[in-house]
Amino acid sequence: MSGGIRFDSVTVAYDGNVVLDSLDLTVGTGEVMALLGPSGSGKTTALRAVAGFVRPASGRVFLGDRDVTDLPPYRRGIGMVVQQYALFPHMRVDANVAFGLKARRTPKAEIRQRVADALEMTGMAAYARRHPRELSGGQQQRVAIARALAIRPDVLLLDEPLSALDAQLRSGMLTELARLHRELPDVSILYVTHDQVEALTLADRIAVMDRARLRACGTPRELYRAPSDEFTASFVGGANLVPVTVGAGSVSLAGAEVKVDTGGAVAGARATLCVRPHLIGLGPGPNQLTGVIREIQWRGATHRLYVEVGGHTVLADLRELRNPPGLGDPVVLHFAPDDAVLLPAGVVGDDR
Ligand code: ADP
Repeated sequence: MSGGIRFDSVTVAYDGNVVLDSLDLTVGTGEVMALLGPSGSGKTTALRAVAGFVRPASGRVFLGDRDVTDLPPYRRGIGMVVQQYALFPHMRVDANVAFGLKARRTPKAEIRQRVADALEMTGMAAYARRHPRELSGGQQQRVAIARALAIRPDVLLLDEPLSALDAQLRSGMLTELARLHRELPDVSILYVTHDQVEALTLADRIAVMDRARLRACGTPRELYRAPSDEFTASFVGGANLVPVTVGAGSVSLAGAEVKVDTGGAVAGARATLCVRPHLIGLGPGPNQLTGVIREIQWRGATHRLYVEVGGHTVLADLRELRNPPGLGDPVVLHFAPDDAVLLPAGVVGDDR
């Protein structure tokens, strides 16, 4: 592998407390890998281990073929962007972007060219002579990205780069980041986020982190269509997770028999049925469930129904519901057998 990032069983501990547990993960050349997980799951720690700001207690970090575990951050040739921009307030935009190049003693003429290129690429060419305080949050973040790109890194580390921006700016910046990635097809990107939309939108693959461990890793489509466990199912996309008992080619759910691919599950075993809320339809159909409406939320494009089925809450997101049922009404729901995934039984909570 000429580029890319590889974690080889990387463990990080603070005061004996393991916050990253034997991480094995490879980010290919030109790949965008999102590290997705709740706060405190170890995402930033993993990223900082690549940057060289934390030292693993064990394991190795590779950039391409180079073992960089013992290299200081400035010798790793990495571009990094963090949530809070971290621009130098007393320096103008162009000086901020030139900073890493000066530190590397890049010749002056080349610095000028690279700064111009980086500002052009991030749409900030017109702001070169401003100070950070004269820029909006979104513009400051573009400058931070320009600064990271100016050193022409093989690896770009982005730590929640959009979380300080408001929703509308965030969505615009997501599009920008996707475009930047198309313009830099050889740069490997590790993108830390707790936001599943960012991960689903940008990433070639998503690594799902849960309490210091890698839970699952796959393309957004794989994790969404066929999650391997309850945590991944609920963190990537939101899911109905209902406890069931396995039968032969079907499962029994609160007294109803529903057809799903039971894979290798043993008859009589307990399992969890996972169905995405938007794949549930109202009215009779295959795999029917009967229940009672407990709550209805109108969400603009959809209505979200909370339906109690045999003591469990099933969510259904329905489009074009002209005459929504009322609270307490009995309803019939259905879903296609192919739209359900059977997961190993876990701790199913009904507290969504
Ligand atoms: P995430 O990025 O997923 O929110 P972090 O990697 O930042 O999680 O943190 C993982 C765990 O490590 C958290 O419990 C956090 O409190 C702890 N932690 C992070 N940095 C330090 C530090 N410098 N000293 C002690 N504990 C830390």
